[in-house]
Amino acid sequence: MAKSKLITPRAEDYPRWYTDVVTQARLADYSPVKGCMVIRPHGYTLWENMQRELDRMFKETGHRNAYFPLFIPKSFLAKEAEHVEGFAKECAIVTHSRLMTEIVDGKATLVPDPASKLEEELIVRPTSETIIYHMFAKWVKSYRDLPILINQWANVVRWEMRTRLFLRTTEFLWQEGHTAHATAGEAEEETRRMLDVYATFAEEFMAVPVLTGRKTDSEKFAGALHTYCIEALMQDNKALQAGTSHNLGQNFATVFDLKFQDEEGQWKHAYNTSWGVSTRLVGAVIMAHGDDNGLVLPPKIAPIQVVIVPIYRTGDDKEAILAKAAEIRTELTAAGLTVELDDRDKMNPGAKFNEWEMLGVPLRIELGPKDLEKGTVVCARRPDRAKSFEPMEGIADTVSRILGEIQARMLETARARRDAATFKIDDYDAFKAKLDDGGGFLLAHWCGSDACEAAVQAETKATIRCITFDGEDETGACMKCGEKSTRRVHFARAY
Ligand SMILES: [Zn+2]
Repeated sequence: MAKSKLITPRAEDYPRWYTDVVTQARLADYSPVKGCMVIRPHGYTLWENMQRELDRMFKETGHRNAYFPLFIPKSFLAKEAEHVEGFAKECAIVTHSRLMTEIVDGKATLVPDPASKLEEELIVRPTSETIIYHMFAKWVKSYRDLPILINQWANVVRWEMRTRLFLRTTEFLWQEGHTAHATAGEAEEETRRMLDVYATFAEEFMAVPVLTGRKTDSEKFAGALHTYCIEALMQDNKALQAGTSHNLGQNFATVFDLKFQDEEGQWKHAYNTSWGVSTRLVGAVIMAHGDDNGLVLPPKIAPIQVVIVPIYRTGDDKEAILAKAAEIRTELTAAGLTVELDDRDKMNPGAKFNEWEMLGVPLRIELGPKDLEKGTVVCARRPDRAKSFEPMEGIADTVSRILGEIQARMLETARARRDAATFKIDDYDAFKAKLDDGGGFLLAHWCGSDACEAAVQAETKATIRCITFDGEDETGACMKCGEKSTRRVHFARAY
């Protein structure tokens, strides 16, 4: 197999491989601002395709989009004690509103104008609970005003010291759902419903299998009663938290005075939920499916689903081949597929194949003089590079079927890989050895204490990723302290 020289093989250096794929597939680039990234069109289209499906799913579950400001008064953040503790260490703060020119060592220099110092400093939102529940408090008076089901597509800033394209950047794009309900039961139902939406999206569109379950108290969102998560395993056997849904209880409603009058005229605090996924999902798709030749994208979210490469030499009937290729493109486009016809003249087919493989296009159609004669095309599938001859007749149906098969196979492959990297471990020494020899999801007994969880993390860098909903009851001994445990939890090293 011809290996691309532009990409470091996964087995050699997985983090390097990841960065190579992101840059070579033109998904994103480093920006002049440290920790921030520029999302290039190929990466942004991928995000838009994911965004569109999620947006549809949010609306189908009754939510509407709204927009809240980028800036949050500093005092808002201070209101919820756990929340401020969770976010204070990674905040960008606006202190002035204009610059002025000052002569420093004979040179004109821009400095903040002291006269423009803000009375109250502003925080660039790291998340929007505070400002959104402040607004909800203005809008809600009666039980009739509930529930409020809102989603916001936005950028947020969390000042990260160690960043990685898509996975952890100082500024990132996301959606944050925020809801208010009259009862604890409704809020819990909503929290679970949105986690299910995320799990469905990850599996059906991203072809990434996920665990669903609860986070431990130490891993939950700052200010939440509890946090549910979807958790995926990447090809280097490190876990990736792909989405979270938080039941906030009445914590925020209490501090932001979000109250309503119930049917008996009694004033009560509302119950909130919030849930989010981010451009990190792009990183998850890359790491779950990519190979040593570049990106491998699931057809349902791929920016380009099919590329047609005409093949001809001097003397062949180039015009007839190009005409047929254009005809096929028209047919596929009419069937709702995103198609590229690569008719660049001064480039050989092999170079074209490499480029489209790098970009992760799920299906390549090759069309040469022999195919034209026989009325067939070659269909080359990106994930396993398998080729087949298919009749031109009914090509749109054939391609749609093949894309469906690719989508399904990608999920199966990823699930098989994840399951093969999931191990039941009873002994702490074996646990440590496994982490250093391949890693994966390690299912181990845990007594439930914060101390054991913290000790395991300090000693091994592995964390409890998820207490899965479908975990079986099983009596055992905590891997760390030997105390009684009633079930296993998923440990892993994570991104
Ligand atoms: Zn223990």
